Amino acid sequence: MEQKMFCFQCEQTAGGTGCTGGAGVCGKSSTVANLQDELTGALIGLARACQSGHPTAYTHRIVLEGLFTTITNVNFNEETMHTMIDKVNAEKAAVLSSEEGASINSADSSAVRPLPIKRQPTSK
Ligand code: SF4
Repeated sequence: MEQKMFCFQCEQTAGGTGCTGGAGVCGKSSTVANLQDELTGALIGLARACQSGHPTAYTHRIVLEGLFTTITNVNFNEETMHTMIDKVNAEKAAVLSSEEGASINSADSSAVRPLPIKRQPTSK
C-alpha cells in the first residue's frame, strides 16, 4: 500500500504503529494529516523566530490556536488548516520584522479571538 500519510497521534493508530493509508482509523484524511504536519512545521518556525524577533501576546495566541488545531478530532477541515498555516507564517514574518512590542497584529484586539469549539454529541 502506498504511504500517503504517517500519523501515530493517538491510541487508535492502525496496528499500534501508525495510520499510513489514504485516511486514518479516526477518519482523518491524508490531506489533513499532511496539512497538520505542515502547520506543526510552521509553528516550529514561528517559535524559532521568537528567539530573535519580538513576539507579542498575539503571537502567543497564534501558537495556542495552531497547537489546538492539530489536536486529534478537533478539526479536519482543510480550509481551516490552510488559514491557520497562513496566520502562523504571517505572524512569523511580523515577529521578525517588527520593533519590540509592535507586532502588526497586536494593536488589533479583534484579531485575538478563541477558536470556536465544535462539541461532539455525548452518548449516554
Ligand atoms: S489521530 Fe487518526 S490518523 Fe492519527 S493515529 Fe489517531 S486514528 Fe490514526
